[in-house]
Amino acid sequence: MEIILAKEYGFCFGVKRAVKTVEETAASAEATAGEPVYTLGPIVHNDEVVAQIQTLGVQAKDAIDEIDAGTVIIRAHGVPPDVLAAARDKGLRIVDGTCPLVIRVHQLARALHDEGYQVVIYGAPEHAEVIGIAGWAGEGTVIVQSLDDVAALPRYKKIGVVSQTTKIPANYQAIVGALMGKCQELRAHNTICNATEQRQAAAIETARQVDVMLVIGGAHSSNSRRLAEVCAQVNPRTYRIAIADELDAAWFTGAEKVGLTAGASTPDAAIEKVIAWLKGRPS
Ligand code: SF4
Repeated sequence: MEIILAKEYGFCFGVKRAVKTVEETAASAEATAGEPVYTLGPIVHNDEVVAQIQTLGVQAKDAIDEIDAGTVIIRAHGVPPDVLAAARDKGLRIVDGTCPLVIRVHQLARALHDEGYQVVIYGAPEHAEVIGIAGWAGEGTVIVQSLDDVAALPRYKKIGVVSQTTKIPANYQAIVGALMGKCQELRAHNTICNATEQRQAAAIETARQVDVMLVIGGAHSSNSRRLAEVCAQVNPRTYRIAIADELDAAWFTGAEKVGLTAGASTPDAAIEKVIAWLKGRPS
């Protein structure tokens, strides 16, 4: 069975940077002086990476309320400004691992708000990145997930729109087009991350060439789910798995070529285990 890897896959620049930030912080003098180090939420949506980070003495906490002292590391998704303020008020040392591309979305959303635009975010309201962007955009920000959500909006004089970085570009374009009918003036920023676009394009290209397509990434990783979604559109034999143990030999019946891609929060070790499983499988 031939294994074909997508041209771009796995850890994106922002996640690599955030994981490195955690490792460096854990190793720094301040960390070893006895002060605890925490990440606010899991640093990436991958259980193996989180377990590895715990071995460095860094614990994940869900809220600033749960942290009384020490260092708090902000993950690549970013946080709203009130969370940073709460950390400062408690005297915590803040290490900001927010991806620079997400910081750009914060700045664009804030600028739209300050210039009097009704800010609209295209994204999942419960996603940490969207919660962060909405916080920076300020009160009155609207979050839409679908064309139906746009249809339900009232008319505004001016709308400014940004997208969650991991959304599908064509879907965002459709949202932007629909928003045109809801205002006199529309300003749309393309805030979809290149890493996401490149991974999606490479995954689709690979999925087209193979009998079975595997997407490696946790169920909580929205970009991994999205990769599986776009691959399934061109190859119905697409499966998303978090780890090699979830593989099922029945999926590969009659398959000669298997394609592989991985979400932006999937470590190389998880990908290598899947490759080892495929190579070890009797054909
Ligand atoms: S997917 Fe893009 S925006 Fe998100 S963390 Fe990675 S590099 Fe940053």
